[in-house]
Amino acid sequence: MLRSAWSVRRVVSAGQVGCTRSLHSKSAPFPNKLAFAFDIDGVLKQGHHNVLPQAKRVLKLLSGEDGRLPKPIPFLLITNGGGVPDEERRAALSSELGIKLTENQLVQSHTPIKEYVEKYQDKPVLVLGGKGESCRRVAESYGLKHSYIPQDIVAWKPSIWDRTELTEEERGFARPQDFSQIPFSAALMLHDSHDWGRDITLILDLMSSHRGIFGTRREGHDRADVKGDVELVFSNADVEWRSDWPIPRLGQGAFRLSLESVYKSTTGLDLPYKQFGKPFKATYDFSELMLRRYLREVGRDPEGALNVYMVGDNPLSDIDGANRHGWSSILVRTGVFHDTHGEVPSHKATIIADDVEKGVEWAIQEEMRKGSL
Ligand SMILES: [Mg+2]
Repeated sequence: MLRSAWSVRRVVSAGQVGCTRSLHSKSAPFPNKLAFAFDIDGVLKQGHHNVLPQAKRVLKLLSGEDGRLPKPIPFLLITNGGGVPDEERRAALSSELGIKLTENQLVQSHTPIKEYVEKYQDKPVLVLGGKGESCRRVAESYGLKHSYIPQDIVAWKPSIWDRTELTEEERGFARPQDFSQIPFSAALMLHDSHDWGRDITLILDLMSSHRGIFGTRREGHDRADVKGDVELVFSNADVEWRSDWPIPRLGQGAFRLSLESVYKSTTGLDLPYKQFGKPFKATYDFSELMLRRYLREVGRDPEGALNVYMVGDNPLSDIDGANRHGWSSILVRTGVFHDTHGEVPSHKATIIADDVEKGVEWAIQEEMRKGSL
């Protein structure tokens, strides 16, 4: 049995949850440096609609709404999910979780991309992934004025991908242009692809194109010393994800692996790309920036030292990223990770807890014990 698993059972076993009323006593120092980052799926929610009751209690506790803490403890949510504009997702989550999240408390897989792609605000970009034109709405909410989606390209020239036909709904929202005159600067994958063949084909076309124009091919497109004109960005590297189906499904990371393989076999080159999402540094750097913006928003010192605890269910993304970023990590048993048969996580967390509530209570007591003022 893992030492950490044993420890957490001992420290925050079900029998001790009752002691949460004394989470903070007047004699103990308040853990001013403490902050939390929560994954959503498998931590706060199970499946699309089921919010865990422990999650609601813990967010009320940290918000200071249940009166068990003398003042709130800052937190934010970091998810590899996306495909919906941040504001819409924040409103939906606020209503589901029963708290009001501010704009600095939610990081979706593509949220850090907003600042990264400011350079493309006035340039044509191809936006891929998601249902219908949802990711175009995400891109437009990030100020990208010339966002095109695969359906626009197919509506312009159906022969560019004739294996699937546009539906009537797609023909309704498609914005065909003369793409033989439009130079794309970037291909941004903001959510899982709904048509792998089409999307791999269009990305390959752009990566080997002359000046990012469909229907052209750059001289030396298969040479490592000749740089392409189109930047490729991915928002999420998860190879698998957990849907309502009992066996994990393929995610954006699996799409990228497939694309890399086809690119390698057709050009002999490694696919150049920029990756966002957990466990990558860009996402953790951005999340820490958001936490500091949140501190400023609530009138706290945004510059001071922070002891951040990441609560996640996926050792490969949540825990690996937290460990690499110097955060503490709490691995919960309510999502993809289970240790009922003595499984050892691929990335070791600071502690393993039965659920988010037990993990958070342990962290608060731990910080108070350490006296982190
Ligand atoms: Mg998760």
